[in-house]
Amino acid sequence: RIAYVNGQYVRHSEAAVHIEDRGFQFADGVYEVCEVREGLIVDLTRHLNRLDRSLSELRMTQPMSRAALTLVIREVLRRNRVRNGIFYMQVTRGAAKRDHFFPPEGTAPTITITAKSTDPSLLAKKYATGIKVITLLENRWDRVDIKTVGLLPNVLAKQQARDAGAHDAIFVTRDGMVLEGASANAWIVTPDGKLVTRPAEHGILKGITRTTAIDVAAKLGLVFVEREFSVDEMHGAREAFMTSATGICVPVVEVDGKPVANGHPGTVSGNIRDTFFAIAEKTAI
Ligand code: PLP
Repeated sequence: RIAYVNGQYVRHSEAAVHIEDRGFQFADGVYEVCEVREGLIVDLTRHLNRLDRSLSELRMTQPMSRAALTLVIREVLRRNRVRNGIFYMQVTRGAAKRDHFFPPEGTAPTITITAKSTDPSLLAKKYATGIKVITLLENRWDRVDIKTVGLLPNVLAKQQARDAGAHDAIFVTRDGMVLEGASANAWIVTPDGKLVTRPAEHGILKGITRTTAIDVAAKLGLVFVEREFSVDEMHGAREAFMTSATGICVPVVEVDGKPVANGHPGTVSGNIRDTFFAIAEKTAI
């Protein structure tokens, strides 16, 4: 495998950044994960737009132009022969003597890009059986709208889910409203057939898959409502599912040990998944 690190293509096993990198010391960095399917990058423009936003919200420097970045991404995918998989891209505020203040003017941001192939049959299994989730009280900072590498609460939540025999955790507010998963956005289909997901103005990351799934819903003529919903509503839903670039649209069949509807994946999430790739923006490698 080959990785890109600050202007160079290096062997993945030897790819490294400095120990005084601010990503390492302060989680002072942002990232993107993008799906690649059938040799096409899915929703690249939206992912790069969100990266720009994350960088500017944290007053970080753009590592390179969008044209150059796109070139490098495609080169990393080509060198790793990825047809179906993902690439991961991370930008930090750079390496500098440890100090909470921003590093000296001119400190170059650190950029790394990796890519890997994934096994579609693993996802197919998740689609067929659905996943179990647990709910956890939100304990993250209030800027989760920025895709930062500061993911410790998410890491602990995922592990807690695994320890409980579930696949994922959903963060909820003190008054029982659903925020989002540890690495995916949450959706339900109400008993009367409406597709619902929480507004992305506050409290969640505005998922790219979420945005494109809204486009897909419109194409399919589904009734879509952007509003908050509770854990109770999730229990009583006709269907529940999670969206992310790595899973696209994964059915949720159990919440906190209680089945959603009949405990089997629903048809709406399947329909969205089946139409997703056709609707999404596709960029050739
Ligand atoms: N919410 C969180 C906390 C995430 O980490 C992610 C993806 O990693 C998402 C939502 C889904 O975002 P996207 O659809 O852009 O992958």
